[in-house]
Amino acid sequence: MDDDEDADDEPTGLHTVCHACSGAGMMPDPKCAIIAGQPRTIDNGRPCTWCEGRGYRHGLVPPV
Ligand SMILES: [Zn+2]
Repeated sequence: MDDDEDADDEPTGLHTVCHACSGAGMMPDPKCAIIAGQPRTIDNGRPCTWCEGRGYRHGLVPPV
């Protein structure tokens, strides 16, 4: 089941799971919007700006 854990297209070498998105590659991006006269919260998310959606960063990146 978990034998292909490293079978992704990750480059070899050190990388660090992105601290901003915890490896998800997406960040929540809630917005308030008025739809049909009702205030609604929309959260489409957006690609993580830290890792550009990859979920990890090259090299060792210590938590800030
Ligand atoms: Zn990220």
